[in-house]
Amino acid sequence: MHIDIISIFPELVRHWFSQGVIGRALQKKEDPPAALYYWNPREYSDDRHQRVDDRPFGGGPGMVMQYEPLARVAQAINASGDKPLHIYLSPQGSTFNHTLAAELARKPRLVLWCGRYEGIDQRFIEEYIDAEISIGDFVLSGGEIAAAIVIDTVLRLVPGVLGDEQSALEDSFQQKLLDHPHYTRPENTATIRAPEILLSGNHALIERWRLKQALGRTFLHRPDIFCQLDLSDAQQNLLNEFLTEQQFGEPS
Ligand code: SAM
Repeated sequence: MHIDIISIFPELVRHWFSQGVIGRALQKKEDPPAALYYWNPREYSDDRHQRVDDRPFGGGPGMVMQYEPLARVAQAINASGDKPLHIYLSPQGSTFNHTLAAELARKPRLVLWCGRYEGIDQRFIEEYIDAEISIGDFVLSGGEIAAAIVIDTVLRLVPGVLGDEQSALEDSFQQKLLDHPHYTRPENTATIRAPEILLSGNHALIERWRLKQALGRTFLHRPDIFCQLDLSDAQQNLLNEFLTEQQFGEPS
């Protein structure tokens, strides 16, 4: 996958992906599964101070990112191959979630536009933007954090990015369920012992326990997701077992 990031602060995003599992995937010498490219609109500005913003028509506070430098970047990107999907990170866009991330992960190339100030001149949005994505009902100072969230989430779903593909498949939301709880050594902390089943080595029982926890957590914490599930009889029984254990404790 090829992702272009357009920002007047590209280092913010570049730094984020210099480490960790995504950083390692991007730095693979042979066949990296994804590549990030950075474009700074200042380099496409006619202004001798490389400004890309100006006062809003009609007055009011703040500045607006100008059409022209952004349009030059968009034209350069569109001229360099098949037209990619241009996404403006904006609090006014569709709310980002797993389903949208999975859809984006199937695209060969994404272009992520990071706004600053009061945002981008509307004429640029109308002419070049295919979709607007928000990461939530709040306002950030710039689109870079939002772009980093979209990139991280999408790349986890691109084959070859995670060391173990199975781990993304088991994450929350993949099966319309929250993930089960996780434990590691030591077996005992000062106050709590890890669940006995996880220490038993019985993989069938461990899988059953994990599904039960995932069903129970989704039921308790995310009724909005839970109500979309069509449970089999076996899953309903597992959930009932979970709820009984919540009330009376797990059998020892
Ligand atoms: N005046 C704009 C509004 O109220 O809709 C907000 C502009 S905000 C200060 C500057 C930039 O941050 C936006 O152009 C956008 O790129 C980014 N941004 C802010 N909140 C965001 C959100 N919830 N999701 C995605 N991007 C966001």
